[in-house]
Amino acid sequence: MSLRITHLGSGSKGNATLLETEHVRVLVDQGFSGASLERRLKLLNLRPEDVDAILVTHHHGDHGGGALIAQRRWGLCVHANARTADELSLIKELWKPFVSLEAIQLGPDLAVLPVPVPHSGADNVAFIASHQGQRAAFITDLGSWTDELVRYVRGCEHISIEANYDDRLLKGGPYPRSLKDRISGRGGHLSNDQTGAFLAEVVTDATDSITLTHLSDMNNRPHLAESTVLYYLDDRFQGDIRLSLQDGPEFTTFMGDAVEVEKGSEGHATPSLQREGS
Ligand SMILES: [Zn+2]
Ligand SMILES: [Zn+2]
Repeated sequence: MSLRITHLGSGSKGNATLLETEHVRVLVDQGFSGASLERRLKLLNLRPEDVDAILVTHHHGDHGGGALIAQRRWGLCVHANARTADELSLIKELWKPFVSLEAIQLGPDLAVLPVPVPHSGADNVAFIASHQGQRAAFITDLGSWTDELVRYVRGCEHISIEANYDDRLLKGGPYPRSLKDRISGRGGHLSNDQTGAFLAEVVTDATDSITLTHLSDMNNRPHLAESTVLYYLDDRFQGDIRLSLQDGPEFTTFMGDAVEVEKGSEGHATPSLQREGS
């Protein structure tokens, strides 16, 4: 069975991505309120108690803000590095510490490798999930990247990565100068152009799906993110490119094949979905 990847929603108001194998079900980040997580999982016919563990990239509220709630309310185990656990005041008995570049075994068929990424005021990591010889990368909240990150992400079958802002929209937008500088700085977020340049370095023939995440409401537009990234990838990428916006879940990627769950596709176990609010 392939790894199933479902973004429950992504943006500055909260992020969480569900990874499922035959044996385990984990969340990458839990930046939603308890009620919001429950509502999103219910659209997949799941409850928070069905999740085996949560992995947190870093302590910022839109990624780790719901981790303590998940420990308290549902007794869920949270994997986080020491700085993140400390900042989030995690319950020690339900905390599993990890260190960068040491694989976390999450079950018989899923391992995840944390790789450090630069992000101001946080000890942030990207996660590379391995399942049956295939790899999926989850990369968010970084203003720049390292050669080490390129090495680990190159050739992954699936890549989820933020495309936070469009340069022109950010420069011409209403944010104060200091905030604009912080967003576009080395420890801020990736612009559409930077995400495109990064992907051009790491995408290979093996890569068959890309999901762009964490689009700024104010400083980005879905069509700009997608077209900019595709411009950089040129003809080196023939797979599916999707965007995860704030109100998910909208689709599931089967380590390669993205499936519109709303359309009730045949042959897959995923239940049909309704859009939130509908
Ligand atoms: Zn952050
Ligand atoms: Zn964020």
